[in-house]
Amino acid sequence: MLVKFYGTRGSVPVAGSDYNRYGGNTTSLQILSKTIIDDRALIVDAGTGIVPLGKKLLREGASGADLLFTHFHHDHTQGLLLCPATFKQDFRFECFGPEEHGIGPYQMLNTIMKPPFHPVDYSLVSHHFRCKGIPNPNAHVLVMHPDRDAGIRLMKIDEFTLAENKHPAQVEIRGGKYPISECMVIRMIRTHHPEKAISYRFEERTTGRVFVFMTDHENTDAVSLDMARHLQGADVLVIDCQYTRAAYDRYTANFGHGTPDYCVRLANETGVRELCLTHHDPLSTDEDVDNILEEARVAARNCGYTGNIRALADFDEIEI
Ligand SMILES: [Zn+2]
Ligand SMILES: [Zn+2]
Repeated sequence: MLVKFYGTRGSVPVAGSDYNRYGGNTTSLQILSKTIIDDRALIVDAGTGIVPLGKKLLREGASGADLLFTHFHHDHTQGLLLCPATFKQDFRFECFGPEEHGIGPYQMLNTIMKPPFHPVDYSLVSHHFRCKGIPNPNAHVLVMHPDRDAGIRLMKIDEFTLAENKHPAQVEIRGGKYPISECMVIRMIRTHHPEKAISYRFEERTTGRVFVFMTDHENTDAVSLDMARHLQGADVLVIDCQYTRAAYDRYTANFGHGTPDYCVRLANETGVRELCLTHHDPLSTDEDVDNILEEARVAARNCGYTGNIRALADFDEIEI
């Protein structure tokens, strides 16, 4: 599996010479895998990074994308407003995201794409979007198979577990039956954030590789059993590390974001092999992000975490 990052900034996009190395686009990433239909893309979040990503997908002739929203804060949605694929009528978007207080991906898009806030009303493009809200992420799983007739399916986790324990282990997607060993299995958990966000765990069953994306998640005192299971043995964990510990202690507690000491502790306790920091603060210059990375490396030495640690930049790629 290959993960390409098109936006690694949090909160608002930034530009200028202070951000040359890490970049200024907000969250958007593409996951490439043989478990995904050839000409479709698997994307997490639609921050401003989805603008160059969408441009690339159209250039490559992609027919559509499965778009998983972590949550609907602007830094994770606003790129879709000007993503070229949004206006390509035969580009099929299938959107998934949390559903809370009756608001899921459909209601979100219908709200943000509306005059006077945006020149194009969502109803003018909605025919090539399909949206599905996930009220209880922990109780569901997304399963993908690369067969042209399959694609992606949201299913109850108990139904999936039952199927997984049968011989042969198969899932039903759009009427066809497919071996789970050929699938991408995407598990979900809620993060600790003002708006409950979803962290996605991608299990590429063909290779056994595991990638966890967990942004917009704030330090917690204890590691819950659910969280430990969600992160257990991940080859790569990409996690929100917006603030230094000092800034957090001074004024950013309860803002919904993490610190280096916490991210390292979490990775260490759950056996994560590589730790990548993301959701950089818009006020953080390249040097500030370097300092956060250094703070994480010091924390790793203190607790004995030996995995690789890096701070992600826009357009970074990770082979997992
Ligand atoms: Zn955010
Ligand atoms: Zn957020």
